[in-house]
Amino acid sequence: MEAHFLGTAGGVPTPGRSLPCSALRVNGRTLLFDCGEGSQRQLMISSLSLMSVDVVLLSHHHGDHVTGIPGMLQTMGLFSRGRGMRIMGPEGTVELLEGMMSTYGEELPYGLEVRDLEDGDGLVFEGVDISAVATEHGVPSLGYVAREPLRPGRFLPEKARALGVPEGPLFSRLQRGEGVSVGGKTVEPEEVMGPTREGRSIAYSGDTMPSPRFASAARDVDLMIHEATFPASMADRAAESLHSTAAQAAQVALDAGARFLVLNHISPRVEDEAAHAQEAAEIIGASKVAVARDFDRMRIDYRE
Ligand SMILES: [Zn+2]
Ligand SMILES: [Zn+2]
Repeated sequence: MEAHFLGTAGGVPTPGRSLPCSALRVNGRTLLFDCGEGSQRQLMISSLSLMSVDVVLLSHHHGDHVTGIPGMLQTMGLFSRGRGMRIMGPEGTVELLEGMMSTYGEELPYGLEVRDLEDGDGLVFEGVDISAVATEHGVPSLGYVAREPLRPGRFLPEKARALGVPEGPLFSRLQRGEGVSVGGKTVEPEEVMGPTREGRSIAYSGDTMPSPRFASAARDVDLMIHEATFPASMADRAAESLHSTAAQAAQVALDAGARFLVLNHISPRVEDEAAHAQEAAEIIGASKVAVARDFDRMRIDYRE
């Protein structure tokens, strides 16, 4: 599981930052969170393949987050994509896509499934459960929390030996989840496994003012990608426009117990990136936060 940051600007692009687009990569397939103008070119420059994108989840419909969609869909068509695509987002996403597709008059050679999502709705991407959570941005808006299912506990050879199971093929069967019989009794896999283990997890806030609902949905995630549009000196502006400052993003990550925070959706008004990170570090700790840059990537490992 990897997160890729393809566009990390907020509102307007800059020479160093493209418009919002982050990617979750699992099993070689790609899911995009938002698809700002220029996202397809960012994908081509990155190590991800454009054709590996199977799902786009929109946080909301402000132009900086959606204008990359029609061009990307058209390019996939020109490259003879056959595999279907899914695009989902808050209320109005079906209508948005109908409008885009009728305006550009493009017949796509692949299936396009478009769905409106509400708070609590879910989908599965490559075995990862993703749920939508309502956020606060003055328009229908969603954040997303992606969690792998729980994994079976670790095989404990000493327990198996204590129950009389000889090392060898019977060990392998237990590890595959099968019961084995030894000396007239059956040993079940649960008897020789440690406790179930957490899967990996990522939360993506999209644009929002600090949202307690998002914090609780993102409980304990390995990685939180949170918008941090403005510096603390512009907190009034953040409140008016229903965005977050770096410090507010850090407070949400702290409340959620997130293990690491990436500050995203950086306004050109943030002149000093190090100071932006520092505002968050004062709340969550310097080892737990970074400011996203275009083409950054981060691998999420299992905790144990
Ligand atoms: Zn935005
Ligand atoms: Zn917005």
